[in-house]
Amino acid sequence: MTTPKATSKTNVMPYTGNKDADPKGKATAGAGKLLDILGTKWGFKNLGIYAYRPMRGSTFISVHGTGRAFDAGYKQSQQELVTQICDWLANNHVALGIEEIHQYVWGTHGRGFRCNRDGKPGWKEWDAENNGGPGGYWIHVEVSPTFAQNPRLIVQAWKKEIHTFVTAIV
Ligand SMILES: [Zn+2]
Repeated sequence: MTTPKATSKTNVMPYTGNKDADPKGKATAGAGKLLDILGTKWGFKNLGIYAYRPMRGSTFISVHGTGRAFDAGYKQSQQELVTQICDWLANNHVALGIEEIHQYVWGTHGRGFRCNRDGKPGWKEWDAENNGGPGGYWIHVEVSPTFAQNPRLIVQAWKKEIHTFVTAIV
């Protein structure tokens, strides 16, 4: 694999989803690294990475079955900050190697970001019928296969991009 090129706003990543799910898989190093960084910077807790199981209310295998997705818990008091973090992760998703973000507590039914919805990255506000399940104080994040297999790419990307976060982080 080559090193990803510098971020470009027009660079639309493909969405992988559960294509690489594996019943004998495990948590990827990249997902673990990104979760570690979120924990160190903002106190997110590891609520789970690898799990080969159907998505809630569906027969499709969850992206957790790829080892590239994780759930990161936070305190209710951090809700506003977490919304800022999710916006920032989405705005920098190409550089950070992120394909999908679910924010369950947001608006009325939550929201989901995907790197590629009909050719464009974007957020979708969930509604009563179409949502990520009952609200909870955690976010779900899916790391791209390249970044999932190369945690060093994640470390490098954060060093480069974190300075663009709205709140200065020491
Ligand atoms: Zn999840």
